[in-house]
Amino acid sequence: SWSSSDSVISSDSAGEPSEPGSPYRVVLLGSSGVGKTAFASIFAGAADSMDSDDCELCGDEMCEKEIEVDGESAVLTLFDTWDAENDNEHYMQTGDAYLLLYSITDRTSFLRASELRITLRRFRPAQYTPIILVGNKCDLVRRREVSVSEGRACAAVFDCKFIETSAAMQHNVWEAFRGIVRQLRLRRDSKAA
Ligand code: GDP
Repeated sequence: SWSSSDSVISSDSAGEPSEPGSPYRVVLLGSSGVGKTAFASIFAGAADSMDSDDCELCGDEMCEKEIEVDGESAVLTLFDTWDAENDNEHYMQTGDAYLLLYSITDRTSFLRASELRITLRRFRPAQYTPIILVGNKCDLVRRREVSVSEGRACAAVFDCKFIETSAAMQHNVWEAFRGIVRQLRLRRDSKAA
């Protein structure tokens, strides 16, 4: 079994899609304070998980879970090791898919998400990598600084999906993970065709 994230994210596999049946590597990106840890906790806590007792593969930096999406199971390895202060480009190269988080209460985090999207594009110029722009903390309606339409427009410009979530209310968080799996499957199926 995996003892450290280093053994999972090897440079050999950088930029390559997972082998069939192997876990999809999903990376959480975004400014400090936007809710990445909250997302990871929900994923690890796994109300939706098929094997919630199995925490062997869950550590501080990553968590592996099997979830069911549209009647088919998928194994996701979630990485929450992004350090917004350091330019940890390692994770820009090794995810199969990305959840790009900002807080709807923090315009700076929204701008940062755009920057991160551009950085991702630089690392992944040629291939289609599923990315969902996630506007978190949508429960904090009175502190909103970024409108839904701005979020949607940004996602359209950057050619990615968009969803607003509330980790605090557990609203749409699993929908975001399911969205990632659906996009990964579309990519897989289009390659197989
Ligand atoms: P990280 O730095 O991106 O890992 O952010 P955290 O997950 O640590 O969240 C930062 C703070 O925002 C914590 O106090 C969380 O409880 C809070 N938080 C995270 N998600 C939400 C949310 O959807 N709504 C509200 N109201 N607070 C949230």
